[in-house]
Amino acid sequence: MSTIDDVSRFVFSTLFFPKKVLIDRPGIIVNKIMQKYSGLNSQHRAVFFFEEIMSGLQNESIKKLGRDKAKALWYKTGKDVAARYLVLGNAKKMPSFLQKITIEYVLSGFRAAGQTFALKTNFNSSDKSFVVTGNNNLVCRKTNLGDFSSGLVSGIVSFFTGENIEAETICNCPNCKIIANKKIQKKYILNIDFVRPDKYYFSLNFPKFISNSSGSGSFKDFIKFRKIVVDIDSKFTYKGHALALGEIGLFHIIARNYIDALSKKSFDDVVLKASINIAKDMFAKKINESDKIDEIFKMLSAVGYGNFFFRKNLKKITVINKWVPYYDGIFYYQQLMLCGFLNAATNHKWSILEVSFEKKESTLKIVLEKR
Ligand SMILES: [Zn+2]
Repeated sequence: MSTIDDVSRFVFSTLFFPKKVLIDRPGIIVNKIMQKYSGLNSQHRAVFFFEEIMSGLQNESIKKLGRDKAKALWYKTGKDVAARYLVLGNAKKMPSFLQKITIEYVLSGFRAAGQTFALKTNFNSSDKSFVVTGNNNLVCRKTNLGDFSSGLVSGIVSFFTGENIEAETICNCPNCKIIANKKIQKKYILNIDFVRPDKYYFSLNFPKFISNSSGSGSFKDFIKFRKIVVDIDSKFTYKGHALALGEIGLFHIIARNYIDALSKKSFDDVVLKASINIAKDMFAKKINESDKIDEIFKMLSAVGYGNFFFRKNLKKITVINKWVPYYDGIFYYQQLMLCGFLNAATNHKWSILEVSFEKKESTLKIVLEKR
C-alpha cells in the first residue's frame, strides 16, 4: 500500500463496501456483522468517537488514581467493551479449528474501523496465545496506557476460546504490542449481564425510514469530499482530530466505569474540556456563529449521532437530536460533548438546563442555558 488513495480503497473494501458498515444515511451508521466464519450474526449501531476525549479521561484517571489503579480501570473497561460487542453479535465459543480465523477476522474489523492497535495479528491455536501489534496507536500514543486495548483483546480471545485468557500491552508508542497468554495472571472476569442492551436498543436504533430535513451529509459524503480523511495507518481524522468507529455503548461503558472509580464531576469536566478543544479547530475560517453551529451539527450527523435541529435566543439554546444513538436511556456523553462544542462555537459558557427523551423517532431534547 503506497498512497492515501490505496488506503482509502482498502478501508472501503474491507469495512464499508460489502455493506458491512452502512454509512450512506446522515445521522445513522449501522455495523452489520453477518459473516459465515466470524462467529457473529447481528447488527449494531455505531458512532465515531474522538480520540482526545478518551485520552483526556485516561490521563485524568492516571493523575487522580495513580498508574496501577488507572491500568486496572481501563483494562476492565476494554474487556467490558469487548463483551458488549460480542453479546450484540450473538458470539459463541468457536471450535478450535475456527478460533484463529475468527479472532483474526474480528480484530481486522477493529483495524478497518480506525483502531490502530490491531494492524498485525497472530493467533497461535495450539497454546491459544495471541500477539497483536500496532503503530502509533490511537489514545495510548497520548497516554502510554495501553490497557484498554489489551482488555479488549483479552475479552475477544476469552470469548471465542471459552477460557479466560488475560492480556497485557507493552506500550512503546509509536510501537505497541499486545500479548494474550494463558500465563498472564488473572485480572478481570467478564460480566456479560453488565453490558447487555436494554429492550429498546433494537427498536430505537435502526429506523427503516428517515427524512433528511436537516440537510446533513452522510459519512460517505464526508469521505468523498475529504472532510474526513483516512491516512496510511487507516486512521480517520476530522480537521486534524482522530476518530475511531465503535458500537454506541463504548462511551457509556467508559462513563459508568470511570464515574464508579472517580466521580461524575470529573467525567463531566474532562469531556467538556476536551470537546471545547476539539471544536476550536473545526471552524478556523468561519466567523459567523450560525455557520459554526451548522458545521458542528453536520459533522456530528456524519459520524453517526443522529440529526439535529436547534433554536437559539440570547439566554437559551434548544437542540432537538432525532435518531440519537440509544443506550439504556442515558445520554451523558453526547450531551456533554454537544455542550462543549456549542461553548466553543458561540464563545460563551452554556450549561445543561434540561434533558428529555422521547421514544418517537428516538428524540433527545437538550436545553442549554447561558451562564
Ligand atoms: Zn502504545
